[in-house]
Amino acid sequence: MVNIAADVWAQADTDADRVAIRSPRTVTFGQLRRTNEQVAGAVRAAGIDPLDRVLFIAPSIPEFPEVYYGLHAAGVTVITMNTMSTEPEIGYVLDDSGASLVIAWHEHAGRAAAAAADRGLPFWQLDPGFTFDAEPLTQAHQHAPQDTALILYTSGTTGRPKGAELTAANLVDTVASFQPVLNISADDRFGTGLPLFHVYGQAVCMNTTLATGASFSLVHPFDPKVMLDVMVADELTTMAGVPTMWNAMLHAEGGYTPRDFAAMRLATSGGASLPVEVIRAFKERFDCAILEGYGLTESTGAATFNDINREQKAGTVGPALPGSKIEVRDSEGRVIGPGEPGEVFIWGPTIMKGYWNRPDATASDLRDGWLKTGDIGTVDEDGYLSIVDRVKDLIIRGGYNVYPREVEEVLYEHPDIVEVAVVGLPDEHYGEEIAAVTVLSEGSTATTESIRVWAKERLSAYKVPHLFAFVDALPKGATGKILKRAIDRDELRSLA
Ligand code: ATP
Repeated sequence: MVNIAADVWAQADTDADRVAIRSPRTVTFGQLRRTNEQVAGAVRAAGIDPLDRVLFIAPSIPEFPEVYYGLHAAGVTVITMNTMSTEPEIGYVLDDSGASLVIAWHEHAGRAAAAAADRGLPFWQLDPGFTFDAEPLTQAHQHAPQDTALILYTSGTTGRPKGAELTAANLVDTVASFQPVLNISADDRFGTGLPLFHVYGQAVCMNTTLATGASFSLVHPFDPKVMLDVMVADELTTMAGVPTMWNAMLHAEGGYTPRDFAAMRLATSGGASLPVEVIRAFKERFDCAILEGYGLTESTGAATFNDINREQKAGTVGPALPGSKIEVRDSEGRVIGPGEPGEVFIWGPTIMKGYWNRPDATASDLRDGWLKTGDIGTVDEDGYLSIVDRVKDLIIRGGYNVYPREVEEVLYEHPDIVEVAVVGLPDEHYGEEIAAVTVLSEGSTATTESIRVWAKERLSAYKVPHLFAFVDALPKGATGKILKRAIDRDELRSLA
């Protein structure tokens, strides 16, 4: 039998009083299971069958796992979506997936309820302290390993979002792959400010923590100062986040010293490239290492990781997870040797089954079981992957390839630069010009000229940004990743 809910429920059988959720309120494994059983019973009583699609929209609060594992226990195919989704976006997912039920946390109920009503679908609003009257379902559904347990829509760069179909086995195998990366045990106290509707917070962090019997602390909405308080109050041992979160925490004042974080063993970072400078500053402030990993929604969030049981190489995203393989291929599909950049392909137990109802997209991105990632990377002799950039972010300036990440790494070393995104701008002469959109620290007196001089000393001339724009904040996606496609290129010229 394969069901992620069964693995979480097994923790309640071992010790029902053990804490599952520590912040912002305490929920034991026994309580979590009882609420899950109620939710599962209500779903079945409503005539929703296993593998029917159910859309669930909620923020990163204890009610998320309370409903989520109930849905999995009922055997339905769960779809989670960003809480900021608009009514048309929700409507699109409902139509595309053929969902039978919509469930949303009350703060996000309006748009979801309207989209459900338009389609004549039942809608359940979750209010604080919700209960369901139906007979609890006390046995989790037995999934076949290849059953689609979860569909997560990825925005993609062109066309409409595609639903990545993740199987019951993908979910369980992601836990098996990630747990040894940090040696997570039932003694761990895991904290995160990541959104649970996204693959990283959900399938990697939440599922691994709760299926292992460790406790989970949630900070929602993410606030760097609150995150520091929770680290100390809950005596967190491990954390997960994205680089923008670490950056914000490093700049937040909490009045703490490294000793206050003595319980912390390790942090993991993914989702976007982690500047080496952040790794160094994090070690200094929290006396703790950050291990970087890499994955996509289509790989159930995990593919490679710097593992605590192996050598860790800063600046790389580590080797393939146990049971997975990575290859770097040229544009003809030939495997390239160490050091040469090419497109990253991944094979293994966490790779999706395909895109829901999209055979063409599936055939294009899944080749003989290998996932084409759209990322450029290199592997070293030991099989450690370094992500160079996204294929679509590559800037070609006057015939030279410029990887924005390399330029960003250098700019991050500038003491006044808090955040930076390097993007290409159309240019008549060079084809593309390089622009750096930067957020400066408060009170900084840095100017375009002083930063340009700094960059010139460290980068070949053709990689130095032609244009610098200063902004108060950069656009961010669901996980807090900087969203380059949301940077308005026309506005950028006027800001320069
Ligand atoms: P969407 O598809 O919703 O637009 P997305 O493309 O960011 O968002 P995700 O599945 O959330 O999709 O993120 C996967 C991508 O994140 C990878 O393809 C890669 O480009 C990037 N990524 C993940 N981890 C790292 C990392 N450690 N370093 C660099 N890039 C990373």
